[in-house]
Amino acid sequence: MDKKLLALLACPVCKGELKLNGEKTELLCFLDAMAFPLREGIPVMLATEARTLSTDERLHKS
Ligand SMILES: [Zn+2]
Repeated sequence: MDKKLLALLACPVCKGELKLNGEKTELLCFLDAMAFPLREGIPVMLATEARTLSTDERLHKS
């Protein structure tokens, strides 16, 4: 995924910074503990599509 594109993306909930996960399959917001999926490289920036991060994932900011 393009790093410039990633820099432009903000969390739709808190407008905060997002981090790409290690597998490059999700964009993570640690403030909201939410993970937004990437579908074929396209970020799905919808709270309804997001997964909630586990406590373990929140502690290991990979
Ligand atoms: Zn957020």
